[in-house]
Amino acid sequence: MKRSRKIIMVSHCILNSNSKVEGLSQYQGIFKELIDMIDEKEIGIIQLPCPEMIIYGIKRWGHVKEQFDTLFYRNNCRKMLEFIIGQVKSYIDTGYKIVGVIGIDGSPSCGVNLTCSGDWEGDSSSKDSIDHKIKNLKEIKALGIFMEELKRYLEEYNIEVPFVAINENDVYSSLNDISEFLNK
Ligand code: SF4
Repeated sequence: MKRSRKIIMVSHCILNSNSKVEGLSQYQGIFKELIDMIDEKEIGIIQLPCPEMIIYGIKRWGHVKEQFDTLFYRNNCRKMLEFIIGQVKSYIDTGYKIVGVIGIDGSPSCGVNLTCSGDWEGDSSSKDSIDHKIKNLKEIKALGIFMEELKRYLEEYNIEVPFVAINENDVYSSLNDISEFLNK
């Protein structure tokens, strides 16, 4: 029976751009160039759930990390990850290799190296208020909430896997880095 015994976890929207906040996607359905790269290495894929789509749906606005930093959001991320962690542990216990996790830099949930931060709250009915909020939006070097919970959950079972990411601002700019990572 053919199988590579190598698996990678990817953020949900890499295989389904429809889950992204309206206006952010740079590809139609799947991020084909990245999936082809993974396929060339004969690596299987576990598609992580999209926490924002599950909790807030497709009509959501873009958020910042601070808005998702609640016990409710974190607990629900963990619930969504329960079945993923179970599968990953079973694979590892039987000699499979979990190659890594590919997240989405810039996302308040799935960022790995960068996440979106800012004073993004309160009344948005006036232009001044919106302008002020937009000016305060920035990317900071930190994991998004979902990736923080995934990392923590994996560590609880002593599972160490590298985390890498594509950049939400220009997904194609990250392909070389991911290629180097997959070639290691
Ligand atoms: S980055 Fe994460 S939360 Fe955002 S659309 Fe993709 S999977 Fe969903």
